[in-house]
Amino acid sequence: MVVVMAVQASEDEVQAVATRVRAAGGAAFVSRGVNRTVIGLVGDVVVFEALSLRSMAGVADVIRISAPYKLISRENHQERSVVRVGGVPIGPGTMTLIAGPCAVETPEQTLAAAQMAQAAGATLLRGGAFKPRTSPYAFQGLGEAGLRILADVRAETRMPVVTEVVDAADVELVASYADMLQIGTRNAQNFALLQAAGEAGKPVMLKRGMNGTIEEWLMAAEYVAQRGNLDIVLCERGIRTFEKATRNTLDISAVPIAQRLGHLPVIVDPSHSGGHRDLVLPLTRAAIAVGADGVIIDVHPHPETALCDGPQALTSADIGELADIAGVMAPLVGRALVRSPASTGV
Ligand code: PEP
Ligand code: MN
Repeated sequence: MVVVMAVQASEDEVQAVATRVRAAGGAAFVSRGVNRTVIGLVGDVVVFEALSLRSMAGVADVIRISAPYKLISRENHQERSVVRVGGVPIGPGTMTLIAGPCAVETPEQTLAAAQMAQAAGATLLRGGAFKPRTSPYAFQGLGEAGLRILADVRAETRMPVVTEVVDAADVELVASYADMLQIGTRNAQNFALLQAAGEAGKPVMLKRGMNGTIEEWLMAAEYVAQRGNLDIVLCERGIRTFEKATRNTLDISAVPIAQRLGHLPVIVDPSHSGGHRDLVLPLTRAAIAVGADGVIIDVHPHPETALCDGPQALTSADIGELADIAGVMAPLVGRALVRSPASTGV
C-alpha cells in the first residue's frame, strides 16, 4: 500500500501517518520527492485498511497495490486451477462443453435435451429447477421436482448436473442433488448465498453480475473461497450496456483478465449474453479464441414451446455443429475438447 501525501502536507502530518502504521505493526518507508512525499507501507493490508489513513490530515490518496482478494488471486497461486465436476475437468488444457435446457420442464424434455447435448459432445448437463425470473408471473421452475428429474436424467445419461440455487435456505437441498451449484447473475452479490454455497461441499459456478465489475465478481468468488471451497468456476454471461441488439453485451475481454487476476477457470455463457440462437455459435467461437475454459449452452428439443429462453435455445443440429467447430478450434488454442463417450461428433 502507498500513502500519497498532499503537496502542502507538513512534516508533522507525514510523521503522524508513519507513526500510526508502525504502531499497528507495519513498516513505513518515507520517500520525499521534489513536490510531494509518498509513504510505502509493508505489512498486513487488512490491518492498514482499518487505520482510516485516508482521513488523516495531509493525506491525498491511499493506493492499494495488492489485490483485495487473496484465496482466488494468482498472486498467491501462480498455477491456474482445474475444477472437476463429477470427474469432468474444467480448466487450462481443456475445453468443456456444458449444455442443457434453460429450465427443467418435464422429464421427457429434460432427457431429450440431455441426449441432444451428449450426442453432440457435451459432458456436463445444465438445467434450472429454481429459476430466478425477472417477472413474478413467469415460470419459476419446478423446484425439488425439477431436481428429481435432473437426478433421473443423470442416472440415465451419466452426465453430471449443474443447477442453480437462488436462496441460501435451499443450498443444502440443491447440493443434495447437484454436482455443481450455479449462482446466477441476479445473485452475484448475495453474500449470504455465496457463503452458504461455500460451505456446501460441491463445486460452484459463479456467474458475473450483470452490473458487476470484474473485481466485484472476483470478490464474490472470494466469499465462496473464504468458506473453504476453492472449487469455483467463473462464468462471463454478458453485462448491461446501452446496447439493445443483444440481451447482454458479452464482455469477452473479461475472460483473459479474470484468468490473469485469479487462478480459477473461466467459462462463457453465449446463450444468456447474446440472447438469440444466431449469436450462440459466433460468440462460442469468440470465447474459444479468447481462451475460455469452457462454454455453457442452452438447448431445447422444441425451442418454440420452451417455458424459458426459447429464442436462445439451440436445436440438435445447432449444438452438433457448435461442438464440431469447438473440436476443431480447441487444439488451435492449445486445448482438447473434453469428449463424452456417447459423442458422435468429429
Ligand atoms: C441461467 O443460466 O439459467 C441463468 C438464469 O443465467 P443468468 O444468471 O446468467 O441470467
Ligand atoms: Mn435462461
